Amino acid sequence: VTKDRASAAMSPSTGKPTVRTDSVINLDHGDPTVFEAFWRETGALAEIVIPGWQTMSYFSDVGNVCWFLEPEFGRQVRRLHRTVRNAAAGDEYHVVVGTGSTQLFMAALYALSPSGSGDPISIVSTAPYYSSYPAVTDFLRSGLFRWAGDANSFKGDEYIELVCSPNNPDGALRDAVLRSEAGKTVHDLAYYWPQYTPITAEAAHDIMLFTVSKSTGHAGTRIGWALVKDREVAKRMTKFVELNTIGVSKDSQMRAAKVLSAVSDGYDMGSGSRHRHRLFDFGRRKMVERWAMLRAAAAASGIFSLPEETSGHCSFSNDTAANNPAFAWLRCDREDVEDCAGFLRGHKILTRSGSQFGADPRYVRVSMLDRDDAYGIFVTRLASLK
Ligand code: PMP
Repeated sequence: VTKDRASAAMSPSTGKPTVRTDSVINLDHGDPTVFEAFWRETGALAEIVIPGWQTMSYFSDVGNVCWFLEPEFGRQVRRLHRTVRNAAAGDEYHVVVGTGSTQLFMAALYALSPSGSGDPISIVSTAPYYSSYPAVTDFLRSGLFRWAGDANSFKGDEYIELVCSPNNPDGALRDAVLRSEAGKTVHDLAYYWPQYTPITAEAAHDIMLFTVSKSTGHAGTRIGWALVKDREVAKRMTKFVELNTIGVSKDSQMRAAKVLSAVSDGYDMGSGSRHRHRLFDFGRRKMVERWAMLRAAAAASGIFSLPEETSGHCSFSNDTAANNPAFAWLRCDREDVEDCAGFLRGHKILTRSGSQFGADPRYVRVSMLDRDDAYGIFVTRLASLK
């Protein structure tokens, strides 16, 4: 409901929603609409046409572990990782496609849970952790796995640790904190792309999750992928998706393949001057600009604090780059404000409370990925709060 209030009217000239200065600004979800401007510019280079007779079969590649993976999507995933060098994606990895990386997160829990009939395995992550982890883990009250909270206070040898880096909500770069032989880890690398953080190493973990939602901004396409080292684990993840949705939309996979291919083309020296649309350059420029606006607004207001800026050498851009998280982890320092989300809601700014991430409600998570007009109103409004 609130989402629609901020975007009720459409501009006749641009076809985009218009936001009035007194609108409710909804920065609760990480809806990646900041990237729309880039894809408008890219135009036909990222367009596909699907004739009525195509993509009708359930099956895509029956000889492959992931039998519903469209081969072209798998190729473009590996090509993009080769281009960015953010994760190893050679033949030693299986690609498993999912309806968003959310489905693959569930598939990974299923695949890594012990097959015996013992107690559910503990699922942990360092706080503040992505609010969907506890919600998705427990909503069906599975007998296989159960949410067990902050990894730092976990005692035991058997667990599945979720490692999100850069982390949602606070942008921190993270490693696993638990180290037991019997423990398993799932690396959620949704934000390990050059617009958000310097690429400092080629990740090569057992299970790595990615999504077009955050890499290219195509959240509505609902496509994610997992890079999985172990064939048996990849098979079990595939089985989960088979039982859950009998595969993943081929139309969406074809669209995602085209979009990923347009991104790689932008950096492919061999493809000529036609493709000079560079997503990560656009994305980094935007994020740098937005973080500067936000830090200036917090300073002007005087009642908010933000995480310190960190930076590092980015092997992709071959320069020093700042960490520009997709979310701001904002703390309200005013003594009398114990519920920062409630305080901001009173000023028509919707955010997600720290309490949903296993943290202090003096913190909120604010999306940095909305459209320019809404973001501009947000920072202006924030600067005026005393
Ligand atoms: N992991 C993290 C850390 C995320 O922030 C999100 C999206 N908010 C997801 C996974 C889920 O992405 P998808 O849209 O692919 O389901």
